[in-house]
Amino acid sequence: MNLAKFPRRGYVQAPTPLEALPRFSEALGGKVNVFIKRDDMLPGTAGGNKTRKLDFCMADALRQGADSIITCGAVQSNHCRLTLAWAVKEGLDCHLILEERVKGSYKPEASGNNFLFQLLGVKSISVVPGGSDMMGEMQKLAETLRAEGKKPYVIPGGASNKIGALGYVSCAEEVLRQLFETGLRIDHMVVPSGSAGTHAGIIAGMIGNNAGIPVTGIGVNRKKEAQQAAVLKLAQETLNYIGTGVTMPAEAVVAFDDYVGPGYSLPTDGMVEAVKLLASTESILLDPVYSGKAMAGLIDLVRKDYFPEGSNVLFLHTGGSPALFAYLDTFRS
Ligand SMILES: *Cc1c(COP(=O)(O)O)cnc(C)c1O
Repeated sequence: MNLAKFPRRGYVQAPTPLEALPRFSEALGGKVNVFIKRDDMLPGTAGGNKTRKLDFCMADALRQGADSIITCGAVQSNHCRLTLAWAVKEGLDCHLILEERVKGSYKPEASGNNFLFQLLGVKSISVVPGGSDMMGEMQKLAETLRAEGKKPYVIPGGASNKIGALGYVSCAEEVLRQLFETGLRIDHMVVPSGSAGTHAGIIAGMIGNNAGIPVTGIGVNRKKEAQQAAVLKLAQETLNYIGTGVTMPAEAVVAFDDYVGPGYSLPTDGMVEAVKLLASTESILLDPVYSGKAMAGLIDLVRKDYFPEGSNVLFLHTGGSPALFAYLDTFRS
């Protein structure tokens, strides 16, 4: 697909590694061969998937003459950390609106991403209660900034719109190129599914390229039906935006909600096991909110023989490890 027509900033200068996980696969009984796409190693402060999306979103902001970026996320948001990081690099102000999805969870002195917000020099942080109309809050702030003579640009939560999702269409194509170059066969891909842009972009890229690699999303927040509807809608919008004329088949979108546990960002036993297992077999850090729960899903699906024996399964590591340091108690107990 021709993505060259969309402006981007060039944040992703080289393909991220695609590695085998032999010791991790062995620890799961050797039934399948797990591989990992290291988007935790993308550029941008501490890496992670939002860099691919922001590559396109920031280019759009600059094209529109923005001098300030407004975005939103949860109190330990990786997306907010990376939006702020790239805004700093571009010389733009960055304003964050944080949604306190778990009551009382915002602590200005907290570690993890929250610490980095201050270190990187956020222009302002406002905290709103869980369930707030985040787009409405961002528009309100944009109005205020405009009245001060600023030129704000609003990036939605997770940069999950058709512009940001282009970053993951591009990632799907990067994976396909790597498989071609190495002659590796991948039978199945597993991806975290949050604000939906990553999952939607990957699936749009796989379907749009007729790759024949099924993708299973692991939800971290919404119910299965709601998540699948959100991914399907955004994947179709993205394919239309690219101008492919491809219709997204609804059955290609799978997003399990079995690994969310008590709720978004709340620890589960499966997440703790996944984080510990990958760290202790392959020295790779997952995060407690997204990649840890997504890997818990992969582990459970392997145990349930969801993938035929001998399958090569590719896990997309979307980053997030700074959040680990805000969850020390979870891993100590
Ligand atoms: C945002 C995020 C995700 C989820 O990606 P979406 O595009 O929001 O679905 C997964 N992992 C990490 C570490 C993230 O920060």
